[in-house]
Amino acid sequence: MMVQREGFRERLLTWYDRHRRDLPWRASRDPYRVWLSEIMLQQTRVAAVIEHYQEFLRRFPTVKKLAAARESSVLAAWSGLGYYRRARMLHAAAKVIVRQHGGELPSTEQELRALPGIGRYTAAAIASIAFGEPTAVVDGNVERVLQRISGKQLSGKALWTAAGKLLDPNRPGDFNQAMMELGAVVCTPRAPACLTCPVVQFCTTRGEFAAKGKATPQKKREIHYVLDRRNEDHRNAEVFLLQRTQHASLMPGMWELPEITGTNGTGSPSFTLRHSITVTDYTVQVWHCAAPSHVSGKWVSVKRLRQVALTGLARKILRKAAIL
Ligand code: SF4
Repeated sequence: MMVQREGFRERLLTWYDRHRRDLPWRASRDPYRVWLSEIMLQQTRVAAVIEHYQEFLRRFPTVKKLAAARESSVLAAWSGLGYYRRARMLHAAAKVIVRQHGGELPSTEQELRALPGIGRYTAAAIASIAFGEPTAVVDGNVERVLQRISGKQLSGKALWTAAGKLLDPNRPGDFNQAMMELGAVVCTPRAPACLTCPVVQFCTTRGEFAAKGKATPQKKREIHYVLDRRNEDHRNAEVFLLQRTQHASLMPGMWELPEITGTNGTGSPSFTLRHSITVTDYTVQVWHCAAPSHVSGKWVSVKRLRQVALTGLARKILRKAAIL
């Protein structure tokens, strides 16, 4: 078993060294950068993270700068990534790091887990990638790879134990990233590329565990928004926005366009776009007209929009309207 494990590690790491994707956060082992990328990558596509990662670092280049920032600035920089609770926790953790650890991320999995927003997976990822601690990670990709390699429906504790046994203690950070990379680009959910898989000879199932059946059907919904502007052609152009309450369960405190229920049966929308959130596909119709009088919003200067924490959809609409 030991020989097999060593062979597996060697094959996987050789493949990773040659084929790993060139992603911006892989250029550095700086703990703050590793942490930031891990938080951004939760529930967000790699392509979207690439777009935001450098810009976020430009605005908050160190943990201290992040800790000292106002929450609204942090949320504005996060805008477009969604799941804003992650940004709030990141900000809260940065303050704890400055207060209790002199501005340096603690270096062990155990200490990292004590920080806001850092669970078992993230703590293990930071500890292994940034500090070389021999601790394994399990995410959705690793889970799938382990199940297929072993031919067992491993779950919970058994998964973490299996990952820990397979981990290469000499290169734990690279090994963890290699397992996740293998799941992301080779051992994919529906069509694992077993013919080109670097660890095929260690794999029990070789594709038999590919997910069957169709994806969950998407629901369809139509929604309408008002795009109300004034001084359009002037330097002090403004757009009418409203802020979600701090108690909203989704995206509290973020800014958006006023939503209206329908069209009053007159005219046609200025433009339409599509927007998907988890299991719902939205057809979004945007109307150039005055916001309903009962809506208590605010005129926001177009020049300031980049500093405002907009919802992802508001950002999309304003971009399509060439305002942002
Ligand atoms: Fe996944 Fe196929 Fe490689 Fe097995 S051989 S790990 S199923 S890609």
